[in-house]
Amino acid sequence: MTVPSYNQVQIDLKALRNNFRILRSRTKPQASVLAMVKADGYGHGMVQIAKVLREEGCAIFGVAEVREAIALREAGLKNEIYVMLGFETNQAELFLQYKLTPVVFGLRGIEPLALAAEKAGKKIGVHVKIDTGMGRLGFPPDAFEEVVAKVKQYPSLYPAGIISHFSQSDDLFSEQTLESYTAFAGCREKLGKPFLGIFHIANSGGLLNFPQTHDDMVRPGISLYGYYPDGLPGHKGSSENNLTPVMSFTTKILQVKEVPAGTGISYGHTYITTRRTRIATLPVGYEDGYSRLLSNKGEVLIDGQRAPIRGRVCMNLTMVDITGIKGVKEGDEAVLLGRQGSEIITADEIAAWAETISYEVLCMIGNNNQRTYR
Ligand SMILES: *Cc1c(COP(=O)(O)O)cnc(C)c1O
Repeated sequence: MTVPSYNQVQIDLKALRNNFRILRSRTKPQASVLAMVKADGYGHGMVQIAKVLREEGCAIFGVAEVREAIALREAGLKNEIYVMLGFETNQAELFLQYKLTPVVFGLRGIEPLALAAEKAGKKIGVHVKIDTGMGRLGFPPDAFEEVVAKVKQYPSLYPAGIISHFSQSDDLFSEQTLESYTAFAGCREKLGKPFLGIFHIANSGGLLNFPQTHDDMVRPGISLYGYYPDGLPGHKGSSENNLTPVMSFTTKILQVKEVPAGTGISYGHTYITTRRTRIATLPVGYEDGYSRLLSNKGEVLIDGQRAPIRGRVCMNLTMVDITGIKGVKEGDEAVLLGRQGSEIITADEIAAWAETISYEVLCMIGNNNQRTYR
C-alpha cells in the first residue's frame, strides 16, 4: 500500500514533449538525438520519461551505469541504450545479453567485451571516448587512432562511434568549446573516409549554443527537462521556442501560528523574529531533497505569493513567514518548485539560493519524493 506523502513531485509530460520537439527542431536534420535519462531521468523518472520520448520519435537513450540500462530493458524499452560509465569486467556479457551500447574510455574495457561477444557469436560496436578537454574520462586525442586500431584487431568488435564531452558549452562565448571541438574534428579527419562510425560530442550546451558541433548525434539532458545549462531562464532573447520546466514540487502546510517579536525559529535560532510574525510550518526538509543550504535564503509560494524561509531547514520540517499573506490555513498548498498563480520558482532560482545548479536540485527533489505524472 502506498500512502501519499504531504510532498508530491509532479511531472508535466506535455512540457517534456514540447521541449523534445523544440530541441529536435534546433538540431541539424542529419543528426539524431540521444536523450540522456541517467540519474532516473534527472529526477523525473527514467522509465516514464524514456517511454514518452520514444512516442515523440526519440530512438536512442543514454544512461550512466549498466544497471540503469537493464532497468530500461526490463521496462520494455527496445531502443538503443548507451552506457556512458563503462562496466566491471565480469559485466561485459550483459552488453550482449541486453543489446547495450558500450562507451570505452580505457584499454581495460576492450578485451572483456571482445571475449563476451565472441562467446555469444556476435559482433558488438563500441564507442571510443576521447578527452578533448573535460579532464574526466577518455583517451587523449593523440592516442585514439591506436585505440581504434586495437578495437579493429578483435573480429568480434568494431568501432561504432567516437564520443567526447564539452566542459564549457553552457557558455556561448567559451573559447574552450571551440578548442575542444577542433580537437574532436581533427580526430574525424585523421580517421578519414573508411571509418563508418558516428561522431558525437554535443550536450545541451552544444546543441543550443554551438550548432556547428551537432555532427551525427546530439546528447541533450538538462534541456529536455526544461532548463538551460547556463542556469539562465531563457536563451539569447529567443522568446518563442522557450523550454518549459517539467518538474514541480508541492507540500501542504502542517501548522500555522503567530509568535511575538524576539522569537527564535528552528535549530540554533539563526532567525529571530523582529515583529509579531505568522509562521507556517511545512512538512518538508533535507530528507526530501530540500537542501539545508536554503535556510534563511529560500522562498516558497503560498496563495500565489512568496513566503521566505525563516531559520534552518530541518530534516522533515521548514518554517516560512506568512505575515504578509492573508487567510492562510493549515492544509493549504505550498509550492516549493513550480508555478502558483502568476508566480514561479524555478530550479535555477533554488539552485542560486543553495549555490548549486538546476541539475542537482532536480535530482535531489525528484529522486527523494513520490512522483505523479500528468
Ligand atoms: C550527462 C551527459 C550529457 C547531457 O548533458 P546536459 O548538460 O544535461 O545536456 C551528455 N553527454 C554525456 C556523456 C553526459 O554524461
